[in-house]
Amino acid sequence: MNDLLSVIIPAFNEEAMVERAALTVAGVLREAKIPYELIFVDDGSGDDTWQAVLRAREADENVRGISFSRNFGKDRAIFAGLSRARGECAAVMDCDLQHPPEELPRMYALWKKGYELIEGVKRDRGRESALHRFCAGAFYAVISRLAGLDMRRSSDFKLMDRKVVDALLALTEENVFFRGLAAFVGFRRAEVEFDVAERTAGQSKWSFRSLARYAVSSVTAFSTAPMQLATILGVFFALAAVITGILYAAVGVDAEGWLVFLGVMILLAAGCILAALGVAGYYLGRVFRQSLGRPRFIISRECG
Ligand code: UDP
Ligand code: MG
Repeated sequence: MNDLLSVIIPAFNEEAMVERAALTVAGVLREAKIPYELIFVDDGSGDDTWQAVLRAREADENVRGISFSRNFGKDRAIFAGLSRARGECAAVMDCDLQHPPEELPRMYALWKKGYELIEGVKRDRGRESALHRFCAGAFYAVISRLAGLDMRRSSDFKLMDRKVVDALLALTEENVFFRGLAAFVGFRRAEVEFDVAERTAGQSKWSFRSLARYAVSSVTAFSTAPMQLATILGVFFALAAVITGILYAAVGVDAEGWLVFLGVMILLAAGCILAALGVAGYYLGRVFRQSLGRPRFIISRECG
């Protein structure tokens, strides 16, 4: 039986981390006697990440690598890695070793026991600013409610059975959101708690803007509820109109007050209509991009 574990490691500008990650992860797996391959996905790095991958491969022939033609984002890098995985199971982890490799043998053992999707859940979110913590909390609260996915403590650190990998690869959406889709596909799950380690070299690739974009794109991938806001606003304005009409007939208002009130209401309604158009436009944009059928990523180099 082939019990090979493929470890997929997306890497964007991680020249300082690739070799250290390869050594550490391989060391842990070798010690646990787990057959492995490491698949680094260079997500269009501007630094020497690819050279670091080639060096890591020279040191250990179980290292393989894919390099994107440009930066396509972590989720697409994960899917590219999964598409190349040869293992009976596959794990995904960060290149900065913030996902502790020491947990891999525990996850692998759970897989051996018959669990199909072993998820690393954060015991503690590591050192984050109060604002970051607040935004992450708000994002997870929204997506949990709207999309019915509980992702509060979830991370991209996961180990999956081949069945789960194949189910994920069979999905055809262009804009992949790994964490959400992993929740979507189901299968027998187990959780492994881990402490988020400190990044030892390089820096986090997320800016506030990219996180916000990520949040909007993942919520809209799983829920059309934002479009229903228009319906709710419509009901609100209709009710407001009826009440104003009744008040006007019953009490009477002086002409000037009436004008101001009308002006405010019209501007408010116009604002809401434009916002609703924007939301609908966003979804239309998603449909448009999907209809183009462009590839999720473009690979420029491969090794191994
Ligand atoms: N990453 C990637 N493509 C990107 C951004 C990040 O492949 O466009 C990788 C990065 O190299 C790392 C992982 O995703 O292995 C997590 O990124 P980072 O450490 O910057 O995120 P954080 O830990 O701050 O959430
Ligand atoms: Mg990190």
